[in-house]
Amino acid sequence: MKRFRPPELTITTPNTPAQPDEAAAGAILTIDLGAVRENYRRLKARLDGVACAGVVKADGYGLGAVQVANALRKEGCETFFVAHLWEGISLRDALGAAPTIFVLHGLLPGSEAQGEAAALTPVINSTGQLAAWRSLARRLGKELPAAIQVDSGMSRIGMAPVEVEALAADPSGFDGIELKLVMSHLACADEPEHGANEAERLEFERLRKMLPPAPLSFANSSGIFLGKPYHHDLARPGAALYGINPTPGHKNPMQSVVKLEAKVIQTRQINAGAGVGYGHTFRATGPLRTATIALGYADGWHRRTSAAAFFEGTELPFIGRVSMDSIILDISALPEGRLKEGDLVELIGPSHPLDTVADVAGTIGYEVLTSLGHRFHRRYLGG
Ligand SMILES: *Cc1c(COP(=O)(O)O)cnc(C)c1O
Repeated sequence: MKRFRPPELTITTPNTPAQPDEAAAGAILTIDLGAVRENYRRLKARLDGVACAGVVKADGYGLGAVQVANALRKEGCETFFVAHLWEGISLRDALGAAPTIFVLHGLLPGSEAQGEAAALTPVINSTGQLAAWRSLARRLGKELPAAIQVDSGMSRIGMAPVEVEALAADPSGFDGIELKLVMSHLACADEPEHGANEAERLEFERLRKMLPPAPLSFANSSGIFLGKPYHHDLARPGAALYGINPTPGHKNPMQSVVKLEAKVIQTRQINAGAGVGYGHTFRATGPLRTATIALGYADGWHRRTSAAAFFEGTELPFIGRVSMDSIILDISALPEGRLKEGDLVELIGPSHPLDTVADVAGTIGYEVLTSLGHRFHRRYLGG
């Protein structure tokens, strides 16, 4: 039996959701790759000659790993970090053979050959991961590249001090392994006064001396701002490239990268006493003019977060609950008829910076960006 399929239907793979064009989209996400490049240059200037990688895990913090990596390559960046093997495989497909791609989680048991086939460099976090990589090297009869991550005090991922000590005592530990990098990660880099920073730095120095000599990497975005003793040989910024403030509490030294705008689906007049949205959590105390916009929690705008949108600098508070696909705004502050169907209001941008949006939501810019959904029209500028 033949299955019916309309001839005009095109099949897209689940990993590459089709994106709506500008007219069809409920919201538009503008990503300024020129600003990403500028941010990379600003970090490079602080690093004063030390090499700088680009962290593009979680699809480039939600902004497009391939687009971001290609923009950074124009600034001479040829070293990238992803978290997962499959992120590394798709980045390798897109970028070709030249760049070095580190996989922060290392390779999970049974996936080592896939990592090798895509010429990825695992960040080895345990004795078990090291043994599996060594055994693949032996089977293939060639050296395989690796980074070693030591845990200098975050207690999250990386070889524990006892593992490093055991490895130091084992002369065959690195058989078949080409050690490309020794690294660790800071738990409190965004709090420069935190005593853990210096303690971690000293522990990193102690542990790395037990390992074969290799370039060292320690600083994430905020770590770069802790100064030269934290720079070592390779910095690993993510957040700062995407415009997130690496120095919370101080003026953001980075350029903003993201603008999120949603379209007005309709405007309404509501009367005093009308309930607004699910559960009628808001009730109009007088006549109101409202606009419903085409963005909701399915697009990454958390339901628990009340906030505001902006139109030409005027604040338009959310009223009622955030729905899956829509949010209701009080637009009474605007002249009647000023906001029309199809107009765009700003959710993240110059009137409402990313870090402010995150503060209001009780979270951090990282979570706001990586929560952004897949229904936007994405517009890339510059790069
Ligand atoms: C995510 C991550 C980074 C980048 O951190 P930012 O704070 O985004 O600069 C660097 N190193 C490791 C190990 C990470 O997990």
